[in-house]
Amino acid sequence: MSSARHSERFAPSPTGPLHLGHAFSALTGWQNAQVDGGTFLLRIEDIDRSRARPEWESQIFEDLKWLGLDWPQPVLRQSERLPAHQEALENLWKRRIIYPCTCRRRDIQAALSAPQEGVWTTGPDGPVYPGTCRHRHSRTGPLPEGDITLRLDMAAATSATGLLDFTETGQSPRGVTGDISFAPTNLVSSAGDIVLARRDLGTSYHLAVVVDDAYQQITHVTRGQDLFEATYIHVLLQHLLGLPVPVFHHHRLIRDEAGKRLAKRDDARAIAHYRAEGATPGDIRRMIGLETSAGHAKL
Ligand code: GLU
Ligand code: ZN
Repeated sequence: MSSARHSERFAPSPTGPLHLGHAFSALTGWQNAQVDGGTFLLRIEDIDRSRARPEWESQIFEDLKWLGLDWPQPVLRQSERLPAHQEALENLWKRRIIYPCTCRRRDIQAALSAPQEGVWTTGPDGPVYPGTCRHRHSRTGPLPEGDITLRLDMAAATSATGLLDFTETGQSPRGVTGDISFAPTNLVSSAGDIVLARRDLGTSYHLAVVVDDAYQQITHVTRGQDLFEATYIHVLLQHLLGLPVPVFHHHRLIRDEAGKRLAKRDDARAIAHYRAEGATPGDIRRMIGLETSAGHAKL
């Protein structure tokens, strides 16, 4: 057991306004950190520079401050971390467990709809990649750079790995919680050869989140249940890269009246929108069930 001080992070992407779901995530992480005198960090996940906007970033700072949160400066931006992400790719490349993929979206769709592929499954990143490039390109020489997708060879990466485990203090959408043990080889069919470097970014959400959580010494990850399935991938990457595995807390999702999960484009549920209408931070807490009208906080 690590004796590291409790350290949480809230890691929004500056690609739209924060909505009630983000408020719930940030306040829950914040509260979890307060319980044992821990730290709450803010990290800006801006690897997708075609979608990230400085205005959204400023709005994030403003909304979170308005909600009553603060965090140490300077704030880490993932776009500054590309050399570290690259270093992790080099490490995996030297072990020959990642490979270049030159498929375009339409090639993958065509391969998936070919009759010999049978029924395809959907993983945390969408349809499981049919493996077209797995043995198409050489894995020797220097790491291929620039404008190329790199995928994890899931079978090769997991074949020598025994059971992995992590602690979940929230729960999965199906109620899985506690000490969770899993066979990483299951990821071959459930997730497949996931992308670790997008050709347009040189990195990916899965790689960046794992490398940067370790860099920031995050001990506890609080986030929505929509990311629960991705956690198996993250724990595998932590194992492969020799990084510590934090404790995870996946919380319920905030839904609209129709039961639909809130999305970035849901401007009507943006914190800024409620603010402009005169809501108080307390009103927001009540809307997301963190406080009753009698003032009792509940998680
Ligand atoms: N950047 C991700 C998002 O906006 C969150 C990543 C995480 O918490 O692991 O949904
Ligand atoms: Zn390919």
